[in-house]
Amino acid sequence: MADYENIVILTGAGISAESGLDTFRDKGGIWEKYDLMELATPEAFGRNPDLVHEFYNARRQQVKEVTANKAHHALVQLERHHPGKVTLITQNVDPLHEEAGSKNLLHMHGELNKARCTYCGAVHIWRDDLSQADICPSCGQTGNLRPHIVWFGEIPFHMPEIEDCLKECDLFISIGTSGSVYPAAGFALTARTAGAETVELNLEPSDGENLFTTKHYGKATKVVPEYISILLRGGIEESGQDI
Ligand code: NAD
Repeated sequence: MADYENIVILTGAGISAESGLDTFRDKGGIWEKYDLMELATPEAFGRNPDLVHEFYNARRQQVKEVTANKAHHALVQLERHHPGKVTLITQNVDPLHEEAGSKNLLHMHGELNKARCTYCGAVHIWRDDLSQADICPSCGQTGNLRPHIVWFGEIPFHMPEIEDCLKECDLFISIGTSGSVYPAAGFALTARTAGAETVELNLEPSDGENLFTTKHYGKATKVVPEYISILLRGGIEESGQDI
């Protein structure tokens, strides 16, 4: 292993694409089929909770049919075998990182398989359909459960912890994200400013391409296992060199 102590990884929808989950912005992605402002904002939920539940119920059913892929598993190997600290931050709301076995994992945009009570604040595992008729197992109130998802206009989870991790990391790896949603899109710059090497593994150059010193473009199931295997063998790569 090269001289990296603290590794921080940021993943986005691209790492789950080959498991069969749509990304947001790619051609044919989720947002071509649905109107974002009718679904993923607190105002949309206030206006039409049934429609928002319908959308997330469909996503929750979909994740039951897919499994983690080689890229998710490669990150588990890194966490298990790296002698230092590995922190995995995901923008994904699917459960594939934890299903693969990742432990030090922060879901900054929430989790599909959880529901939160807007009355008492309790968060519960929720793998099946959610509706306005459901009762909060903690407070017994009806009609206050919502998907435990960070919607547009809401503050992502775990931000203080994430900021601390970025400031102390010496290797930052961005995987399968377009770099178009803030604050996640700013993480590479924070890490770089703190002196970290920055790596992009994506299908194509992201919006923040210039922030990365090392880049590998291709499908996540190919480039992620290859890069992690080099890292675990202690390889140090030249910037931009193909794997
Ligand atoms: P995005 O759709 O904006 O970008 C996806 C990126 O992945 C693109 O840059 C694309 O080139 C790349 N990509 C596509 N297929 C790939 C593959 N096979 N291998 C490697 N890279 C591939 O998604 P994002 O950057 O994560 O950002 C936006 C939001 O999308 C996040 O807030 C996240 O919560 C949400 N989202 C999550 C899921 C999920 O949980 N699986 C799915 C869709 C969207």
